[in-house]
Amino acid sequence: MAHDGNNNRAIEFPDLPGYKTLVCDLHMHTVFSDGSVWPNIRVMEAQKDGIDVIAITEHIEYQSWISDIPHPDRNRSFELATGFAKHSDLMVINGSEITRDMPPGHANAIFIKDANKLMVDDPIDAYLEARKQDAFIFWNHPYWASQSPDASVPLDQLHLEMIKNGLLEGIEIVNDTTYSNEAFQLALDHNLTILGTSDIHNLIDWQYRIPSGGHRPVTLVFAREKSQPSLKRALRKGQTVVWFNKKLLGKSDFLIPLINSSLSIRSASYIHNSTIVHVVIANNSDAPYILRNQSVYDFYNTTDLVMVPPHGETIIDVRTIDKKRKFEMQFEVLSSLSAPNTHPVISIVVKPQQ
Ligand code: ZN
Repeated sequence: MAHDGNNNRAIEFPDLPGYKTLVCDLHMHTVFSDGSVWPNIRVMEAQKDGIDVIAITEHIEYQSWISDIPHPDRNRSFELATGFAKHSDLMVINGSEITRDMPPGHANAIFIKDANKLMVDDPIDAYLEARKQDAFIFWNHPYWASQSPDASVPLDQLHLEMIKNGLLEGIEIVNDTTYSNEAFQLALDHNLTILGTSDIHNLIDWQYRIPSGGHRPVTLVFAREKSQPSLKRALRKGQTVVWFNKKLLGKSDFLIPLINSSLSIRSASYIHNSTIVHVVIANNSDAPYILRNQSVYDFYNTTDLVMVPPHGETIIDVRTIDKKRKFEMQFEVLSSLSAPNTHPVISIVVKPQQ
């Protein structure tokens, strides 16, 4: 999305051909469950971070300040946030965190119409009600150490049935400052949508050290347009990449186009009387790309590792042996994952100036 450029903390990634890149944080809390802030702070933090979409996801069953802040209507936090975001581009969607013991554990139901109806005894009834409201439901921090001491994913028969019945359509592989290879693999094995969220309870600036250049984890969703139906459709189709700790994680289908849209050849020309091409690669995203050469050619000015800084450029002098009108370079993108411990490989076509 476009930003005014005055605010260098805004999270910025390019759109893809045919898709808008929506920066989404779909899991957060306020004093209306166990968070520390009023909903206006969540809205203001999101605006500072250049976020397109937030979901307010208070715990249904766990309300720390209920005697101080009684709110018989469990949609109240969402309504307040919506009001605070009214004169801005920020889209606010209604959600709830269904907060139960494992299994099934915690899950977010987003795009719900009425949170009050999720207040039921049986956890599965809560999921069924969310589904009835056409919610998109995802499994929160399935590897959470409080429910799984070794941080493995305690996959149960119940989860498999829920996945089969459309009661779990996505999974957090990143939650706050944590990541799970197992959750990532589970997403690939069961075709679940990959998500990363802040699950913020206190303040974004403190939690992610924004003044020192940190960022909150977000899910980049590739939607046809910025609207709720389009966002929901994109989530259901798994069109996401997670931005976590300066790394990009996602299924190749959208991860590779995102990397390709971020990197471009600014210029390429042969150095006088040589077969060395001076190639300038530019990066128009927040991600620092660390590339490992896998081409048939090697470089005159660097080893096999190339770093393309965020919103910057880097120069590679490529030895092409003879003068070429066009050639291809392959790089393994070490700063991205397309599966656990697996780095995607991209291809860049270079046409030197004649
Ligand atoms: Zn939460």
